[in-house]
Amino acid sequence: MVLVRGHGETLETFWVRRSDEVPYMPGFRAFVGGLADPQDESLEIEGLAPGPDRTLEACALREVFEETGVLLGADVSPPAEQRARARARLVGRDATFPALARELGWRFRAGALTYTGRWTTPPFTPKRFVAAYFLARAPEGQEPCVHVGELAHGEWVTPVAALERWQMGGETFAAPILYTLIGLAQGEENLAARLAEAPEASGKPVRRIELKWGVVLQPMKTRPLPPATHTNAYLVGEPEMALIDPGSDDPAELEALFELIEMLRADRRTLRLILLTHHHPDHVAGVEKVRERYRVPVAGHRETGRHLRLDLILGDGDVVPLAPGVGDWTLRVLHTPGHTRGHLCFLQPRIRALFTGDHIPGGSGTVIIDPPEGDMAAYVASLARLLGEPIETLFPAHGSPQAAARKRIEWLIAHREEREKKVLAALDAEPRALAELVERAYADTPRELWTYAERSLLAHLIKLENAGAASRDGERWRAG
Ligand SMILES: [Zn+2]
Repeated sequence: MVLVRGHGETLETFWVRRSDEVPYMPGFRAFVGGLADPQDESLEIEGLAPGPDRTLEACALREVFEETGVLLGADVSPPAEQRARARARLVGRDATFPALARELGWRFRAGALTYTGRWTTPPFTPKRFVAAYFLARAPEGQEPCVHVGELAHGEWVTPVAALERWQMGGETFAAPILYTLIGLAQGEENLAARLAEAPEASGKPVRRIELKWGVVLQPMKTRPLPPATHTNAYLVGEPEMALIDPGSDDPAELEALFELIEMLRADRRTLRLILLTHHHPDHVAGVEKVRERYRVPVAGHRETGRHLRLDLILGDGDVVPLAPGVGDWTLRVLHTPGHTRGHLCFLQPRIRALFTGDHIPGGSGTVIIDPPEGDMAAYVASLARLLGEPIETLFPAHGSPQAAARKRIEWLIAHREEREKKVLAALDAEPRALAELVERAYADTPRELWTYAERSLLAHLIKLENAGAASRDGERWRAG
């Protein structure tokens, strides 16, 4: 729901910041909105027949009311007090929106909302969905007010100011927000029509996903470990770009990547080098083709260089210079062993962004630590050292990027500590096979993932063995 007020120079839109606690894109900027709910079907809107379109409008009306207290599309403008009481009942699940409307005599008419197209989430997101966008003017005398919960904050902003803040690295948001702001910045003439064309014009899914200015994400279809299906390649910097982890050698996937690089070249951005987080095939499969086409050097850790040809060896503390654009784009290299011996993360301190590779997966999942390449003690230490770095936003190789980096890192450390306790509790004097221990220590993990869990279990056991808390008897493990 793109809520606007004012005209010309003072045209503003209302945007929110998602809470750090939500599982999907925490800390990102967004517009108000949410999922259609079964109750939405029964809201009557004069001039609209029951059906999917009416349900979507009803959902938009309800979400705006629930999240901001603004009542759109009604034939009355109820006093603030009545709205506040009704909103509290709606939020408290005391009454449904259609029931409130009936009770309070609110009648809705078609035409308050203007449909402005549908956006499809890109393939790196955990749940793919289609979002319908609507444009509406906030009614006179109704001030939106966000309750802290799923949303952390809300404010009016001019599209130009919002874009400036994004360009300086201060804001992070998904592609539809960017294209909507660009549309708004061009003024009110044909606004709805221009916004409605944007999803089609930007590709389905969006071809250029620039979550922060200078950070372009290209999801590539690969064969990573489940549940992932894609590897996110990143083009970082402007005017000079580094390409991180081109993980597919599929011709169609490479073609899409090349098209994106050409598109960025039209904006005077040039590819300077390829950076690799680690050697796993779903991170490096596209390297040779990209190197061949753009004649750029490939850089990674010495350990990664044992698996493929590198032109530059990188180690902890090295800097990758990229020409400055709106600001500094130098990347700092962090050696983060654990998932692999040579795993690197890349830190951009100005925008407080970390390109995490497989060190920190997107969403709420964990990554496999597979010995002997994987090392649990090193992994946990590599996570802990990140807490001392200026990091706000995580750009993972799999799944969705997210802000609230610190919370995520602390959760991962706590999760591994908890798992270690479970592993310890699963051990006793009797030597037991991995298959038996995984049942005990990974009871909360879906059974179909136990084959992978066994590898991380082994990594925990080796860590405990080194600490003197576990010992092995051939392939079997026991306490002490
Ligand atoms: Zn990996």
